[in-house]
Amino acid sequence: MDISGAASSADSHKKRIVVIGPPGAGKGTQAKLLAARYSVPHVSTGDLLREHVGTNDHIGRDVQFLMDSGNLVPDEIVVGLIKDYIEGGSFIFDGFPRTVKQAETLDAILGSLGMKLDKVVYVTIQDEIIVARMSGRQTCADCGAIYNREHNPSLKEGLCNICGGLLRVRDDDSAPVVKRRLNTYHALTEPIIDYYRRKGLVYEISGLGQIDEITARIAAELD
Ligand code: AMP
Repeated sequence: MDISGAASSADSHKKRIVVIGPPGAGKGTQAKLLAARYSVPHVSTGDLLREHVGTNDHIGRDVQFLMDSGNLVPDEIVVGLIKDYIEGGSFIFDGFPRTVKQAETLDAILGSLGMKLDKVVYVTIQDEIIVARMSGRQTCADCGAIYNREHNPSLKEGLCNICGGLLRVRDDDSAPVVKRRLNTYHALTEPIIDYYRRKGLVYEISGLGQIDEITARIAAELD
């Protein structure tokens, strides 16, 4: 993946999108589909952090407890992981920014490169539906594809449709941790919406409904 290019006049066709929403709203699924549609990198800070936890390196060891307990990891660690992607000038961020401070940092880095965000896609859904949805959520251990036993089951029980990898339930998808993640979301992440609304960047869409229909509606806005 080429993440090197700097801002240029040929830059206007690139997409710089942030997808925000509570855990379980389907933002990861939508971000992946949009990234494929526009051929831009899909950057999930949760996935990047889980890779470090998987290799048990010093970042992984620092963040594992915070992630497993439904808390955010420090801004500096997350920004360090994605700076190259910001500088690449084209991205769909999924799970970043998560705090107003991260949003300000993103703006500052983009501003220093003469770039701006195109759009913030805000996927909404009620807390009660999230808790019900996440209890059936499964994630492919190999490619990260997301399924739900009830609403979006894989074709073969326990196996990924795309790569055949094993499906597992994430440690932080247990009910008490989901509640903590929702609290964290309302307290720290939701204020970002107002921050971006003031900049006129927010496109709000309900996360309820067919996955493909939601993608089509977002794409109509982004196109
Ligand atoms: P996600 O896969 O986006 O639900 O993220 C899983 C976990 O990773 C979160 O509950 C946080 O602990 C951590 N995380 C992901 N992105 C961020 C971020 N931008 N800032 C802080 N922590 C994050």
